Amino acid sequence: MQKIITLIAALLAFLPLLPGQQMAKDPLLGLRVDVVYLSSDLLEGRETGKEGETMAAQYIAHRFQELGLEPKGADGSWYQNFDFNFKAHPHAETGEPRTGRNVLGYLDNGAEQTVIIGAHYDHLGHGIMGSLNAGDPAIHNGADDNASGVAAMLRIAEELKSGRAKNNNYLFMGFSGEEMGLYGSKYFANNPTFDLAKANYMLNMDMVGRLNEEKVLAVNGAGTSPAWKEVIEGLSIGGIQAKTTDSGIGPSDHTSFYLKDIPVLHFFTGQHTDYHKPSDDAELVNYQGLLLVTDYILALIEELDDNGELAFTKTKDEDESRKAAAFKVTLGVMPDYVYSGEGMRIDGVIDGRPGAKAGLENGDIIIKIGDTEVKDIYGYMEGLGKYKTGDKTIVVVKRGEEVLEKEVEF
Ligand SMILES: [Zn+2]
Repeated sequence: MQKIITLIAALLAFLPLLPGQQMAKDPLLGLRVDVVYLSSDLLEGRETGKEGETMAAQYIAHRFQELGLEPKGADGSWYQNFDFNFKAHPHAETGEPRTGRNVLGYLDNGAEQTVIIGAHYDHLGHGIMGSLNAGDPAIHNGADDNASGVAAMLRIAEELKSGRAKNNNYLFMGFSGEEMGLYGSKYFANNPTFDLAKANYMLNMDMVGRLNEEKVLAVNGAGTSPAWKEVIEGLSIGGIQAKTTDSGIGPSDHTSFYLKDIPVLHFFTGQHTDYHKPSDDAELVNYQGLLLVTDYILALIEELDDNGELAFTKTKDEDESRKAAAFKVTLGVMPDYVYSGEGMRIDGVIDGRPGAKAGLENGDIIIKIGDTEVKDIYGYMEGLGKYKTGDKTIVVVKRGEEVLEKEVEF
C-alpha cells in the first residue's frame, strides 16, 4: 500500500507538466518518477516474457518517444524481440518457450560513430532463479537492480538530446533477459540493428541507485580502452570517487559488447543487503546520488567527444573471479554469480579458450576439477589454482541430468 501511495504521489507531481509539456524540468523528480513506476508492484518484478516486462518496455518506449528519439528496434519499431527457453531450475528437463524484448531508441547526430548506452530493465518477478529471498514468494521490485540504471539512461538521453556532445550518435537500449543470463544483450550483439563496426563504445548502468556517503562509484571495464583511465583520472564531479577494475567481462550486459571487441564501461554503486530480495524498493534509492552518477557519465561522454573512435584493448582474464589474475591458468568461462546451488554454474564460454575447446557449454555446472570437489566458486578457484599452462585435467560438469567428464588442456 505504501508503494501505491508513493507511486500516486510521484505521478501526481507530474500532472502540472502534462500534457505534452517539457518533461522533468527537475531532473531529480524525473529520476524518481521513472524508478517509482518501474519498481511498483503493478509491474510484478518485470520478469522476462511476462506482462510486467511488457508494461515496463512500453513505458521505456513511451519515454524514448517523448524525448524525441527515433525507434531503432526490428522493422522500425521500438522493440527487438528474442525467443528463449525458460527453465525454472537449471536441472529442469523441459522449459517453457518465452519471448523477451529489448527496447531501442536512437539519437542521430549525423556522426560517423555511435555510442551505445544501456541498462537492463528486467528483474526477478516473484522470485525466479537468482532470488536470494528466504521467505514466501513475493514481488521483487528491483528498484536499484535495475530501475535505477534505466532512469539514469533516460536522463542521459534527455541531456544528450538537448545538444550536448554531438560528435557521436547515441543508441539507448533497455535490455531484457539480463537476470536469466544476459539474453537480451547477447541477442542484440549477435543481431544488431545497426552496423556494430560503427559502434564507438558501450556504457552499461546496472545498479546505480545506492551511492554511499563516500560517493564511491565502481567503474568496471577500465582496461578495455587506453582512453578510459586517462579520462576517468581527470574527472572531478560532485565528489564522486571512481574505483576502476579492468576486466571487460562481468555479470552484466557490457560483457556481450566487450566480447564483440567494443570498449565498455559498467557503472555500479555497490552491493547491499537488499540485493535480489523483495526489499530492493524505490524508497531506498539515493536519488541525489543517482543524479550525480548521471552527471558523472555525461561529463565522461563530453570529455570523450573529440576523441574520435576509441581504441579497444582486450583485458587480462578476470573472468574466473576478481582474484583470477593470481592464477596461472583459466578456463575462459564466466561464472554465474547469482547461482546459489552446488557447484559453479557457467554463464558464458569464451571462444577459443580451454573451456570452449573442451566442449564446456553455457549452463554447465562444474562440480569437480581434477581431484578437487567444486561446491561453489571458491572451490572452483581452489581447483584452478593447482594447474599451470600446458597441464591437462578432467573437469566434471552437470548438464541437466547428465554428468559429463571433459578433458581440459590449460
Ligand atoms: Zn542487474
